[in-house]
Amino acid sequence: MMGRLRLWIGVGLAAVAISASAQLAWSTAPDVVDYSIEVSLDPESHSLQGTETVRWSNATAVPTDEIWIHLYLNAFASSETTFMRELGSGSLRGRVSQTGEWGWTKIESLLLDDGTDLLPEMEFVRPDDQNVDDFTVVRIPLPEAVQPGASVELVIDFSARLPWIIARTGFVDDFFLLGQWFPKIAVFEGERGWNSHQFHASSEFFADFGTYQVTMEVPQGWVVGASGYEVERTPLDGRERIVYRAERVHDFAWCAAPPSLMEVFETDFEPSRDLPAPWLAQAGTLLGLSAAELELPPMRLRLILPRAQHALVPRMVRALRLAIAWYGLYYGPYPYPQLTVVSPPAGAEEAGGMEYPTFITTGAGNLDAYAPFAWSPDIEAVAVHEFGHQYFQGLLASNEFEQAWLDEGLNTYAEVSCMTAIADGDLAPDFLHLVSFWGQQRLAVGAASLPVTIDRPAWTYRQRWRYFLASYSKTGVAMRTIQGLIGPEAMARGMRAYAERFRFRHPTGDDLQAVLSEVSDTDLGWFFEQAIRGDATPDWAVLAVRQRHVGRATGMEWDGASWREIEAPEDDGDEPPETQNELWAIEVDLARHGDLVGPVTVELTWDDGSTERRLWDSAARWERWRLEDSRRLEQVVVDPDAAWALETRRADNYWRESPARPRDPLWWLREALLNAGQLYLKWGF
Ligand SMILES: [Zn+2]
Repeated sequence: MMGRLRLWIGVGLAAVAISASAQLAWSTAPDVVDYSIEVSLDPESHSLQGTETVRWSNATAVPTDEIWIHLYLNAFASSETTFMRELGSGSLRGRVSQTGEWGWTKIESLLLDDGTDLLPEMEFVRPDDQNVDDFTVVRIPLPEAVQPGASVELVIDFSARLPWIIARTGFVDDFFLLGQWFPKIAVFEGERGWNSHQFHASSEFFADFGTYQVTMEVPQGWVVGASGYEVERTPLDGRERIVYRAERVHDFAWCAAPPSLMEVFETDFEPSRDLPAPWLAQAGTLLGLSAAELELPPMRLRLILPRAQHALVPRMVRALRLAIAWYGLYYGPYPYPQLTVVSPPAGAEEAGGMEYPTFITTGAGNLDAYAPFAWSPDIEAVAVHEFGHQYFQGLLASNEFEQAWLDEGLNTYAEVSCMTAIADGDLAPDFLHLVSFWGQQRLAVGAASLPVTIDRPAWTYRQRWRYFLASYSKTGVAMRTIQGLIGPEAMARGMRAYAERFRFRHPTGDDLQAVLSEVSDTDLGWFFEQAIRGDATPDWAVLAVRQRHVGRATGMEWDGASWREIEAPEDDGDEPPETQNELWAIEVDLARHGDLVGPVTVELTWDDGSTERRLWDSAARWERWRLEDSRRLEQVVVDPDAAWALETRRADNYWRESPARPRDPLWWLREALLNAGQLYLKWGF
């Protein structure tokens, strides 16, 4: 999803070569779930009636005699659920309670396929916080264990009342966005048991891959969008039954609204038209793949948006096509035939900026086609971000409860890389050139006075904004730092290898570390340990540089028998001392202000214009380098390539010899401008 942090920033600032055969490994992970659901929407009472048949297969090596199921609509049932308590006052909770439109769901009947009634044994469980007012997870004991490789089929009747839109689910007037709306099976992890977290305010989801066939009954003529693709549509007494099918996905979401409110715009992604040639060339170089190996398939794009936003269609479509091209190049081709994109109507903004497999919601205002609102990069940024979730975690289905950074953070890295390429390539409105996308993220990272840890369960942060900061910006910038450390080629190859090997699986942070280390041939454990699992902050500085002539002593000298005065050299007035045949003793003092210990490059620039680079391991708090040279130092820069994007305090990374021109009263101003200019050129601010 798109965090509040972005909105806040937006307001505040304007190897292993990947062989072709590796691509075949995508399809080896087994399907775990197979859903067939019939659901009827009653817009008057904002309610659902559904019947669900779900077959669950035990893909682990451990038998289990129970099944855990999410009933996430119950997160919106009262002010005392875990979700509502964590959300706290002063946010969305007020709107739900004011309208009296709470949301809930109820399992009406629960049978095994042989007719055994499982409902009497079903119990609510609260694995995360023991909050007895939370009803978002149930545990169902089974009469017999499901053995490894075996499966079990449940038939569930359920009813639901939809909430006033909250956390991307519910209704506003006649607009319905249905996410987390059906009883959904949790993930069985073998020895680790059932992994099923309650619905938390600061987290998203985790589920297994499988097939969904969903029949949605709505008023006739209504606009419906859903995960997957339409296979059938049947009229039925003023109503309509629409069947969608989605394969190899781990969730199913849909929307419904009358055609007077929303319109549908059908188009496609056609690589021969929509893939920028320079992108293909650059990806080929970075990844070491041929154009044939980087071939992308065409796909259908279905846009559902308020009639009032019609003028935004070209910009949205353009951004989506570029996103499909970028992610396809760097993270592998999009494997599904269709993507549905919903821009929620005015008043339903809370439904925006969310991702489900093959179904995303963006966010736009009715005035966004017109100045000055048109000058916001959010149309592009949100489209790219939400499409990016088709990979992180649509295809790479990490546990968003436990490691939210693997979806939001890796996606922030990919999104900002893509947005930077869009702006640099003149592929979108001109004003994008004015935005420093990495600068925005780095500014956010620098905003936290108390460092945040990236790798921790989403609901355990002290404040929600810290969850957003850690999971989005800080992870994005940490990934950009790894790119700086191992180089753009190794990074591109490593990320593509990660995206291909773990497609249709549940990768963890350890998997990411292993693949990036392997492909870059560098053990990145020290970095992950300090910057991802820990909260260590990098911050280096040039403390001081001293330069003095060797052999130009003054004072008295001992001639063996007595003291006599050293002869002074001739005073040459205003001219700088002639240094060519003399030797300089130079001391460079470097400091590590931060607690992160890692290698950092230091660039020395001599007065003859030549430069040299040295690596400092920064193991000590400070270090003094003693040099002797016929040249003087003119400049010292720590991390000259700005590889360490995570280092947000860079002003002290520069030392320049002060110009010896005291007669110029403006020398200090020029110095200040020079320093500011250097900073700007390096990192955009
Ligand atoms: Zn997101």
